[in-house]
Amino acid sequence: MALLKIARLGHPAIRAGSEIMTAGACAREDFQVFLENLVDTMRDANGVGIAAPQVHVLERVIAIEVDPRNPRYPDYPHVPLTILINPQLVGHSTETNEDWEGCLSVPELRGRVPRWTSVHVQAIDREGRTVDFTAEGFHARVLQHELDHLEGKVFLDRMRDFSTLTHLHEYQQFWRATLERPG
Ligand code: ZN
Repeated sequence: MALLKIARLGHPAIRAGSEIMTAGACAREDFQVFLENLVDTMRDANGVGIAAPQVHVLERVIAIEVDPRNPRYPDYPHVPLTILINPQLVGHSTETNEDWEGCLSVPELRGRVPRWTSVHVQAIDREGRTVDFTAEGFHARVLQHELDHLEGKVFLDRMRDFSTLTHLHEYQQFWRATLERPG
């Protein structure tokens, strides 16, 4: 297991955007090792998602995994480990909702972010096969958050205003119990 260094807001990698992966990348052993390291890094940091630019690799790769035992995001529905290469948002609901987000590259902060309640995504998986699926709720939210990283955007850019922006300690103290969980 090798942990990769996570870039924080302010490092140019977070704002740089990312390049499309070339066909055949999945057959490269070094790329498969990178994917393992990306997942290990996400899990070690208790992330529910990570995008390659967050580890200084400007390529269109994301990983997501929501485990109800995750201490940073307890009580959310399980999403199995999913690695997406060249993911594209090909459709979304008209409805949006607002919920809390944090980010491994914006440590110790939380804020409420509006997102579409469902999204339709196409990508290739780590074996190079096409995947095409729709996701709802928190799953859709995590996907939108990670897709944004590929465009050099962070959740702060999506907030309507900063009135809910809070440090994690104060989130747990003042906010967590006062707002309903998403459906
Ligand atoms: Zn993030």
